[in-house]
Amino acid sequence: MTEHQGARRPRFPVALERLGRPGVSAQPRTTLRPQRPVHEAHRDAGRPSAASGLGLDSLAMRQRMVARLVAEGIRCAPVFEAMAMVPRHAFVDTALANQAYEDTSLPIGLGQTISKPSVVARMFELLFAGQTAGRGAGLGRVLEIGTGCGYQTALLAQMAQRVLSIERLGPLLDRATQHLSAWRGDRVRLVHGDGRLGHPPQAPYDSIIAAAGGDELPDAWLAQLAVGGRLVAPCQRSAGRGQVLVVVDRNPGGCVRTEHEAVRFVPLKSGVA
Ligand code: SAH
Repeated sequence: MTEHQGARRPRFPVALERLGRPGVSAQPRTTLRPQRPVHEAHRDAGRPSAASGLGLDSLAMRQRMVARLVAEGIRCAPVFEAMAMVPRHAFVDTALANQAYEDTSLPIGLGQTISKPSVVARMFELLFAGQTAGRGAGLGRVLEIGTGCGYQTALLAQMAQRVLSIERLGPLLDRATQHLSAWRGDRVRLVHGDGRLGHPPQAPYDSIIAAAGGDELPDAWLAQLAVGGRLVAPCQRSAGRGQVLVVVDRNPGGCVRTEHEAVRFVPLKSGVA
């Protein structure tokens, strides 16, 4: 049993004991598309809710979302527990709330989108599959780049010792601050800044996760990753073209990079706005 699965029994009713050890799939899944064009999401907003008769606040809605992720082959009990607790619909515009438990990205304003639950869960699956030495239970000290609406930050707050989340767009960060009021506690700190620079005052981090992708991983992220820590981020392939999920493990002898599924994330931009 890995440390993060620990002694605490999962409360979530999915048969977690059957999920096995979270790990990196040997076979990459098909291309993951965490975002989709904003116009498509607006068009779909008129569609009736998939789960009629159930209130959006109900645990059953979140459990159905998690059950779909399990059916897709994702194995990460801690993120399922967190997803069963955090109401995704509370982080998106009310006009889009009826789509919040579908496996879809949704616009969150300023041309940005909240990632699909399956992509969020896959990134956490990769993050948890790293070394656990030094970080204790959960993800340890986390740096998140791209707070967006704050949904992923709320999930992290359930799984980490502390979270430092950076967003470059001020209005989005203001909204995330409101959304997170119930979920932050004193373990989460939100920063308005350029996440490409990381956040040296709280470094090193046991886990680094980015929700926006650039051509290369910023040096600052690698420099701020603790020995024994793991980074998961979208990034251009090192050979050839196209964006993939990149994992970097920092070992005592240096960094080891592996590439996983093809993805399409919003761009990692410089500066603040
Ligand atoms: N996980 C977020 C996804 C938001 S989309 C959620 O749950 O909503 C990606 C976010 O990354 C956007 O909000 C975008 O503004 C932000 N971003 C892009 N480049 C950035 C940078 N250099 N620093 C900080 N945030 C950045």
